[in-house]
Amino acid sequence: MKPFTYERAKTPAEAAAAVARQPGAKFLAGGTNLLDLMKLEIETPRHLVDVQDLKLDRIEPTREGGLRIGALVTNTALAADTRVRRDYGVLTRAIVAGASGQLRNKATTAGNLLQRTRCPYFYDSNMPCNKRKPGSGCAAIGGYSRQLAVIGSSDQCIATYPGDMAVAMRVLDATVETVKADGTTRAIPIADFHRLPGDKPHLDNSLEAGELITAVTLPRPLGGTHHYEKVRDRASYAFALVSVAAVIQKDGSGRVAFGGVAHKPWRVEAADAVMTQGAAAVTARAFANARPTDDNAFKIPLATRALAATIAEGKSA
Ligand SMILES: Cc1cc2nc3c(=O)[nH]c(=O)nc-3n(C[C@H](O)[C@H](O)[C@H](O)COP(=O)(O)OP(=O)(O)OC[C@H]3O[C@@H](n4cnc5c(N)ncnc54)[C@H](O)[C@@H]3O)c2cc1C
Ligand code: SF4
Repeated sequence: MKPFTYERAKTPAEAAAAVARQPGAKFLAGGTNLLDLMKLEIETPRHLVDVQDLKLDRIEPTREGGLRIGALVTNTALAADTRVRRDYGVLTRAIVAGASGQLRNKATTAGNLLQRTRCPYFYDSNMPCNKRKPGSGCAAIGGYSRQLAVIGSSDQCIATYPGDMAVAMRVLDATVETVKADGTTRAIPIADFHRLPGDKPHLDNSLEAGELITAVTLPRPLGGTHHYEKVRDRASYAFALVSVAAVIQKDGSGRVAFGGVAHKPWRVEAADAVMTQGAAAVTARAFANARPTDDNAFKIPLATRALAATIAEGKSA
């Protein structure tokens, strides 16, 4: 591991200013992703600003009837919250489908949103990777791509966003709240938070340097039945090949977002509009512009089958 310096910030503004001030500085939350990447020297921050003392660990009701989740609320606390379990079941289901109990005890809401790809070449510093080293090439294109993206990819990167929680947040239309080093705040719709790779695959999201996530806000509950179906190679401790986060209403209408298929949680609102016509109609729209590889073309029929199972579960609920 490369040497680095460390400080613990006392306020969000102080944390944002500390990271913005020092090139190569990063926030440290639970550390379950960042420290692994530092040990492998995939990430080499010269300074860490620990955000654990920022008191952003509360879940509070909003005036609009939703919930405001502090950036430091752990995955365990969020999944177990009685309001989340009652009104936003898709979120609880997605969180508990991820990682392990120990990891979820440590992992935070903001850190989970910002976890980096699990593309195998991103972790192999002997191989070219535009995300790890911009301009070096992409070993996954023409390489082993079974886990990788089928839609929204570019000629420079076909990685997927690997997380579960954000897929549920996408279906719930969450908003990410931030503070910048100059003290200004932003509310970023989750749809615009994660980026597609385009010609800048090293940028995973729309945050600016030193911009700190302070909370994630959920709008009023949607009602309906909530589902998270995760298809993976092992029953636990594995990332999604395909996941389906869905909220389904009594009349069969609803919303769906897919994980494991793109560089961001994948939701196409025009596909939601045909939920009553069944899974095949939805995925025909959601994956209309798919560009799968020979290795991962199976993900599209898999997404259709996972959604069909979800819709059947919704009908029998
Ligand atoms: C073995 C293993 C299995 C896993 N399986 C799954 C899985 O199946 N599904 C899944 O979804 N996840 C899985 N994970 C990922 C895990 O959920 C993430 O590592 C965790 O959520 C990251 O949260 P953290 O608080 O530890 O983040 P950290 O590691 O502390 O930080 C991650 C990133 O977020 C940045 N950051 C942290 N807080 C803020 C903030 N407030 N504002 C701005 N930037 C911030 C950091 O600078 C860093 O870049 C797995 C991890 C491991 C190690
Ligand atoms: S798919 Fe993206 S992360 Fe994977 S090797 Fe190519 S550039 Fe790197």
